[in-house]
Amino acid sequence: MINPQFIQKLKQVCEFDKNVALKEKTTFRIGGKVPFFIKPMNSQEFIDAVRLCQNFRIKYVIMGAGSNVLAPDANIDFVVISTLGLNKCYINRLGFLYAEAGVRLADLVRFATNNELGGLEYLIGIPGTVGGAVVMNAGAFGSEIGNFVEYIDILENGRMVRLKKENLFWGYRHSTFTNSKKYAIIGVGFWLKKERLDVITKRMQYAILLRAKTQKVGYPSAGSVFKKSGDLAPAYLIEQCGLKGYTVGGAQVSTVHSGYIVNLGYSTCQDVLKVIHYVRNKVKENFGVTLELEIIVL
Ligand SMILES: Cc1cc2nc3c(=O)[nH]c(=O)nc-3n(C[C@H](O)[C@H](O)[C@H](O)COP(=O)(O)OP(=O)(O)OC[C@H]3O[C@@H](n4cnc5c(N)ncnc54)[C@H](O)[C@@H]3O)c2cc1C
Repeated sequence: MINPQFIQKLKQVCEFDKNVALKEKTTFRIGGKVPFFIKPMNSQEFIDAVRLCQNFRIKYVIMGAGSNVLAPDANIDFVVISTLGLNKCYINRLGFLYAEAGVRLADLVRFATNNELGGLEYLIGIPGTVGGAVVMNAGAFGSEIGNFVEYIDILENGRMVRLKKENLFWGYRHSTFTNSKKYAIIGVGFWLKKERLDVITKRMQYAILLRAKTQKVGYPSAGSVFKKSGDLAPAYLIEQCGLKGYTVGGAQVSTVHSGYIVNLGYSTCQDVLKVIHYVRNKVKENFGVTLELEIIVL
């Protein structure tokens, strides 16, 4: 039961919807209803919404495009604060490309390209936002977002802070912000190289082609479920265990890319968790490798 005073105050902060099914808000198309789906339209509303949840001790999850999360089927006791309204991208007075947390990566890459700023183009096909990408240190084809970040504006325990690059940690699909509820990412300053438009465009087209060739799985998913373990791709290990196409209910190890689990249209969160459990056990049994999850289970 949500405190009625919280609801009153929230009305003064920003728009929200009630009883929203997360299957409509995640790329996996899985997830039960959250009592409140909060929709700040700018960074001030976002900051106010986060602070309000903190003050009232309301459990909350910040969500960008929902492309790296697996949401529970029912009994959800948290609200969601969406960043999708924080979608401004510009070159700031310091000369950095500044993107608010909810800017889609495709829009970020297009904006950078139009300004002849190179480096980010390998991220073009990742269906996430800047905030989610920074949390995950998202990357593709050997390039990661963290390589280009100069500073990040965050809310930490209700206080606005600018973290400079020397104070940030970047690992493989991991950053200062992964699995930490302490931070709310507001916006990111990128330092990018001035390059010729045709050179940037060529790299972008290459990334688009490569992704279409290897990762067009045809069903809703959250991308790669497991992290790479050393040099070994989870997809290879899973395939070697004969698990391509392994299915529980509506969740299936993709027949196109074994690193993905896809939703055949009627998958529940439980189905996906069962597939994950089985796959991990089999890979451990056959290769002695413990696969670590890349997706975030909410
Ligand atoms: C088809 C497909 C292909 C993909 N390919 C790739 C790929 O090539 N490389 C790759 O790295 N990933 C890939 N992904 C995974 C995913 O797109 C990335 O991890 C992406 O960066 C997640 O961004 P998001 O906005 O969707 O984050 P969400 O899924 O919304 O959130 C991810 C995590 O970040 C947190 N979060 C989000 N925004 C904020 C914020 N502003 N402040 C604090 N916390 C926040 C959330 O609470 C959650 O813990 C793919 C996914 C799909 C579906």
